[in-house]
Amino acid sequence: MTRAGHVELAAAAILSGCGGSTPEQRIVEDAAAALGGRDRVLAIKTLVVEGAGGNGNPGQDMTPESTSPPFAVTSYKRAIDVAGGRGRITQTRAPSFVYFQGQSPQTQVLGVDGEVGYNVGANGAATRVSEAAARDRRAELYHHPLTIVRAALDPAAKLTNPRIATGQSVVDVTTAGGLRFTLAIDGGTKLPTRVVSMTDNLNLGDVAIETSFADYKDVNGLKLPARLTTNTDRTMTADIRVTKQSVDGDTGDLAAPSAATSAPLPPSVPPANVTVQEVARGVWWLAGQSHHSMVVEFQDHLLLIEAPQNDARALAVIAKARELRPGKPLTAVVNTHHHFDHSGGIRAAVSEGLTIITDRANAAFYQEVVGRAHTIAPDTLAKNPKPLKLETVDGQMELRDSSMTVNLYHINQSPHADTLLMAYLPKDRILVEADVFTPGAAVHPFAANLIENVTGRKLRVDRIVPIHGTIAPYAELPKTQAKTSN
Ligand SMILES: [Zn+2]
Ligand SMILES: [Zn+2]
Repeated sequence: MTRAGHVELAAAAILSGCGGSTPEQRIVEDAAAALGGRDRVLAIKTLVVEGAGGNGNPGQDMTPESTSPPFAVTSYKRAIDVAGGRGRITQTRAPSFVYFQGQSPQTQVLGVDGEVGYNVGANGAATRVSEAAARDRRAELYHHPLTIVRAALDPAAKLTNPRIATGQSVVDVTTAGGLRFTLAIDGGTKLPTRVVSMTDNLNLGDVAIETSFADYKDVNGLKLPARLTTNTDRTMTADIRVTKQSVDGDTGDLAAPSAATSAPLPPSVPPANVTVQEVARGVWWLAGQSHHSMVVEFQDHLLLIEAPQNDARALAVIAKARELRPGKPLTAVVNTHHHFDHSGGIRAAVSEGLTIITDRANAAFYQEVVGRAHTIAPDTLAKNPKPLKLETVDGQMELRDSSMTVNLYHINQSPHADTLLMAYLPKDRILVEADVFTPGAAVHPFAANLIENVTGRKLRVDRIVPIHGTIAPYAELPKTQAKTSN
């Protein structure tokens, strides 16, 4: 017998229990018994989890690899109508890092009611979220031991692929509603240790969302975890320490607000609207929505600065750039930094054959991004694979020919990211930057550092042509400091 055969037999022996259950049913039955009994689990109607903890900030950290302190969640309440397929998270959180929108705490209400996902804003207004976001929230309802085990006990659920992994029994569960999960239970206590579901992430493609359960406590004859930690791919997205759990208590009204149910379903990605403004000879600002780009004309080619957000935006910007000088090829795109909203068009740019010019700190990350599987929601690069052409900037880089010069500089010591490039066009004294100064914004937490970088490089800037906000005279930048020192 092969070694693999031995392992399979051993696993089958462990997995087969008493009664007429299949190995996969046995895992679910063991989990139900450990949580407080099959009948008790099946009878549960509502669940309210309260606590505090943290939220990660995936794709927005200082480097692609770092995990700096996340949002501190000071109050957290998650209410689930188990049988009704409805749930709502109400939480207050504040950034424990220097944040764009300032440091004030914000309260979020994130809900799902059947097919309808919704948010409630600080002003009390409800907005509907996309189908993809609603689907993720429906899956999130089952990222708790009671809800996933209850769903797995449903005779309409499909249980497959029972196995042993690192001392845990693992089974795949397809719920009666068609959602797919992997459930793992502890080999000794039989309590659920984690549940995993897969989803699409715009930047990363296929990602696992895994919630681990720990620190089980006795609650009304049930065993419930007091620590729930969710990772999306490699990043912690929620880590909640539970202070109170109520079973069959009052959840409040979990129906989606009528403003959300009556609203049309918003698309996951809004259609792109690209406007063109020539800001100097051979220099165009492509705006129209939240994230702008620039096109710069050289003697025999065009350069794009920023392919942001997603396929739709990046492809529309690339198409518009190519219309400006149809005789000149668009050859490369400068990426300002790795943050997901600014790198969401990198894969589209690669699919269009553009060379990616970025800070050297992003090189390994973009190699990975271009190579990742996007099978759940295939994007343009998944449908039209191309290799990555990458040029990295180590401190600074000059792009120059007889008609145009663009200087790229690493922004040193920025509290926003360690991967930032700014672009300076010396002929027209234009500075292009993302996120570190947004003309017209309420707060400017990164402006002082940008001034240091501009003066340190002895740049003579007349105008800032930003990736966010409106074009502004350079004088607007030092003015932000006068305001904050008042
Ligand atoms: Zn950023
Ligand atoms: Zn930004």
